[in-house]
Amino acid sequence: MKKIAIVGGGPSGVFSAIKILEFTDNIAKKPEITIFDNKNILHTILPTGNGRCNLCHAEYDNIELAKNFPRGEKFLYSVFSRYGTGDTIADFEGLGVKTYIQDDL
Ligand SMILES: Cc1cc2nc3c(=O)[nH]c(=O)nc-3n(C[C@H](O)[C@H](O)[C@H](O)COP(=O)(O)OP(=O)(O)OC[C@H]3O[C@@H](n4cnc5c(N)ncnc54)[C@H](O)[C@@H]3O)c2cc1C
Repeated sequence: MKKIAIVGGGPSGVFSAIKILEFTDNIAKKPEITIFDNKNILHTILPTGNGRCNLCHAEYDNIELAKNFPRGEKFLYSVFSRYGTGDTIADFEGLGVKTYIQDDL
């Protein structure tokens, strides 16, 4: 069995662990994943509150979405083409987290 260490139990680390397990469809080959964090896992999402959390920017056009990241715009075209806004929303809905889109305030 492969062993994977993820350093940092913020949203990125936890999401990576979930995705690694999802992409390993052969249950016998599922890796053992350990998340190391020097504080409590997911403590960084606690400040998001009042029952609301912005989980993605509802821009479905990948080129428009990438414009929001001036330092990584070109690199993000390929990233967003593989995992974009629709994938993010579908993943959260799949976890039972209902979403809605709100205009910028
Ligand atoms: C008040 C507030 C409200 C926010 N609201 C939203 C929101 O509504 N929607 C949204 O999308 N984003 C929101 N954010 C931003 C969001 O919290 C960050 O974008 C997100 O936490 C980044 O995730 P990350 O996993 O990349 O990094 P982090 O959340 O920073 O996680 C890194 C983790 O690594 C750990 N770590 C660091 N160094 C080490 C080490 N050497 N060894 C072991 N562990 C280590 C840390 O303890 C931490 O748990 C908000 C942020 C704040 C401050």
